[in-house]
Amino acid sequence: MTRFNTQLVHGLPVDDNTTGAVNPPIYNSTTYAFEKVDAMPRYDYARSGNPTRDFLERQIAQLEHGARGFAFASGLAAIHAVLSIFKPGDRIIVGKNIYGGTYSLFHEYFADRGLIFEAADTHDAKALETAVAGDPQQGVPAAKAVYFEVLTNPLLDVNDVRLIANIAHKHGAIAIVDNTFVTPYLQRPLDLGADVVIHSATKYLAGHSDVNAGLVVTLSEEIGKAVYFAQNRFGGVLAPAECDAVRRGIQTLALRMDRQQENAKAIAQYLLAHPLVKTVNYPGLPGRDRELAAKGLRGAGGVLSFEVVPGVDPADVLNNLRVFRLAVSLGAVESLAELPCRMTHFELPREERLKVGITDELVRLAIGIEDAADLIEDLGQAFDIAYERYLERHGESDIFSQITSGIFA
Ligand SMILES: *Cc1c(COP(=O)(O)O)cnc(C)c1O
Repeated sequence: MTRFNTQLVHGLPVDDNTTGAVNPPIYNSTTYAFEKVDAMPRYDYARSGNPTRDFLERQIAQLEHGARGFAFASGLAAIHAVLSIFKPGDRIIVGKNIYGGTYSLFHEYFADRGLIFEAADTHDAKALETAVAGDPQQGVPAAKAVYFEVLTNPLLDVNDVRLIANIAHKHGAIAIVDNTFVTPYLQRPLDLGADVVIHSATKYLAGHSDVNAGLVVTLSEEIGKAVYFAQNRFGGVLAPAECDAVRRGIQTLALRMDRQQENAKAIAQYLLAHPLVKTVNYPGLPGRDRELAAKGLRGAGGVLSFEVVPGVDPADVLNNLRVFRLAVSLGAVESLAELPCRMTHFELPREERLKVGITDELVRLAIGIEDAADLIEDLGQAFDIAYERYLERHGESDIFSQITSGIFA
């Protein structure tokens, strides 16, 4: 058995390569010859199976410690396939603050087809258990699944996979975990009791903002069979060249993630000390190591968010960044910044947003692998401009003296 970093580079060996090429080949063929009519070859048609995709699917199953892996054309195609294993009337408990596209897929598509979604606070074990248990005597059956993300977006709450999976299993439900923000480098949810892991491989796994992809890993063969049916019948499969792009990205996952976390830590500390910053959300801040470890995480990843103090326009910060690109998405080599209330989360009604803590002042950063000093300098000059704009709007009243006099405490 090889170790994790070796598995990132090599995956599971294939024995169909007689050329000595060190990388697995990209097979574009959509059809495969039968030796004779009854031969039942391993591959017959590319939607049902393709050797390039197979390599990636076996690799992600190996990395996540699952039985079966599946590659899809996007994270949402993966989520669609997984949710399709449920039937009308099935209750699914959903963690708060899930990815907007997932929320919309659940409520604007699957809910119309009979699945019942209920939000629950996954940090509150009692409330979660009540939701999962349902009330069979009142005609509310126990839930079939709990669906959540390990790190919530954009506030970076840390969900406890072990705790949530335990509660789900107690009532016969499965635990489905979106591990996009964390990756198997920092946590393997199946080891902690989850049943299905989903990735938008578009983010950290591919890692270069140049491929849309989704991955699913199931702990059991049985759920694997159901997901395979959905993959093969909906046909949202990942194309061979894209499979190879994800494979190549995965090779450097640990190196990229190490740098991203190192940079994110330095930036979080810089932000904490900046007078224009009110709060910083990053579970990798000093003092939170024990919480992370207790929840089975080896690190906090490269996404963080912060709020500017009231009166400062966060758009003045974002519009003046030069190294950070103003863009949605995350997990790539380049650093990205965005304003959730007007970019990633603009579809959420303002009241809903505020209820979950996504204020108008909240900025999300997805940290890349650049020099931390350049990123910090970039933020610094953008804050300076935002402060000048603040002074223009508020006359000569000095925000810094207001802070020291406690107005923003
Ligand atoms: C991006 C993302 C998705 C959707 O993935 P796509 O590849 O964009 O379809 C799902 N979950 C999370 C947490 C994401 O960040």
